[in-house]
Amino acid sequence: MTSLSQQFTCHDAYDPNALPVALGRQLILDAVAPIEGVEHLPLREALGRVLAEAVVSPIDVPAHDNSAMDGYGLRGADLHNDSPTTLQVIGSAYAGRPFPRAVGPGEAVRIMTGAPLPAGVDTVVMQEIVASLDDQVTIPAGQHTGQNVRKAGEDLRAGVPALAAGKLLRPAELGLIASLGISEVSVRRRLRVAIFSTGDELVPLGTIAREGEIFDSNRYTLFGMLTRLGVEVIDLGVVRDDPLALEGCFREAASIADVVITSGGVSVGEADFTRSMMDKLGEVLFWKIAMKPGRPMAFGRIGAGGDAAWLFGLPGNPVAVMVTFYQFARPALLRLAGVETPGEAPELRALCTVSIRKGRGRTEFLRGVLYAEDGEWKVRTTGAQGSGILRSMTDANCFIVLGPEQGDVAAGDDVTVQILDGLV
Ligand code: AMP
Ligand code: MG
Repeated sequence: MTSLSQQFTCHDAYDPNALPVALGRQLILDAVAPIEGVEHLPLREALGRVLAEAVVSPIDVPAHDNSAMDGYGLRGADLHNDSPTTLQVIGSAYAGRPFPRAVGPGEAVRIMTGAPLPAGVDTVVMQEIVASLDDQVTIPAGQHTGQNVRKAGEDLRAGVPALAAGKLLRPAELGLIASLGISEVSVRRRLRVAIFSTGDELVPLGTIAREGEIFDSNRYTLFGMLTRLGVEVIDLGVVRDDPLALEGCFREAASIADVVITSGGVSVGEADFTRSMMDKLGEVLFWKIAMKPGRPMAFGRIGAGGDAAWLFGLPGNPVAVMVTFYQFARPALLRLAGVETPGEAPELRALCTVSIRKGRGRTEFLRGVLYAEDGEWKVRTTGAQGSGILRSMTDANCFIVLGPEQGDVAAGDDVTVQILDGLV
């Protein structure tokens, strides 16, 4: 098997000491592949899961030609070209009830949205434009044969895959599967992700922080981000900066999880002992990414055989944890979970209302507030941008992403933003 570093060094731009963000993300994505394991679940429980096999439609949807609106159903051949047409109304056709007889020449039916077209009917005229008197209806000129009809199978054809394997099941997919009469689906098992924090200064919630100690917050942001992604989170707590304790925790994590995500311990001062310990466990690469915040990061594989797991060693600073998670871990976790095409985070261009100092050569992720004003998107920063200031994340609804080529930003310039919240 080729090692990760062999795989990666064949890329010209691969420089572990100044790795471009886009390349790092791509290398990680290319290295990972979907996990094995399939479950059959009732439809509702499958929300947020990934289809393990295609859902093939057993039926045509819609099953019958039907009316797209409330109006009158008629035979298109009856319509006069340039003058109104008067027809005899022989009854009403309702959704869910087949009309009992055929509609002949010179006849029409009142028809409701979704009602199957009675035999003979091929055209529907909306009720708002007709004149009806007793059992006669007059249709204005200018209507076309076939209008306002939904054809059987126009949504989905029987025997054709309605959803491909690898599709993430959102509300629309649940509804679509239900519309086929299918109540159970085959999905991949949930990805298991173990998390722990490293640092002698960290204390867990429920204890008292003495001088120099801080509460461990990274496990909470990680728990939140992972839970939102729909993975199973295994929380292994806080581990001291002690090689033996760390090694034990890494071994345990690798044996129970598909992915291990840690925070802290990868910065220059701490990487050395982590690095030598990691060499015993598998192959872990220590990167300095050309970005701010979040420069140091480790990625690799630990454990052997069935006990192996992917490792993301994220930086310790709370904002850096979130930025590196979204930029590197999230797309890889989606792919591991079986998502065929992990969507890029939604980006748009917005007018930046403040000036920003920016050095070239690295990507910066500032926390921003995106808002609409005077018919355009505008964005400002959330204020102090230190990588330890979590407030900058709680105040934000987007990242302002300034790429490596970008220099200083003047107020009024357009910038790229990544939106943090999606609709579904
Ligand atoms: P490190 O990468 O371990 O050098 O940590 C960088 C900074 O992040 C230090 O100020 C740490 O105290 C802080 N930090 C590390 N882990 C956590 C955590 N789990 N929760 C809050 N802050 C942390
Ligand atoms: Mg530390």
